[in-house]
Amino acid sequence: MPIYAYRCESCGVEKEHLQKMSDAPFTDCPACGAATYRKQLTAAGFQLKGTGWYATDFKGGSTATPAAKAAASKESAGSSSDAGTCGGGCACH
Ligand SMILES: [Zn+2]
Repeated sequence: MPIYAYRCESCGVEKEHLQKMSDAPFTDCPACGAATYRKQLTAAGFQLKGTGWYATDFKGGSTATPAAKAAASKESAGSSSDAGTCGGGCACH
């Protein structure tokens, strides 16, 4: 998720917000409430900081969770189907 820098044209407050690209931009200033809160073109520093911890965060979450889930469900599905099909007339008994 990229970090966007916002600035209020009324009171001049500046803030960074973590948003999805698909999220609608903020328009109301959190400090003074005026609808003059504008997204700024982000500085390089913001982008580096954002992608840096975003990348590690994303990697850990996406690789660990689905892999572990898949392995667990595969194992339980496999063992239960073995028990179901092997009724005694097969080679393993
Ligand atoms: Zn303001």
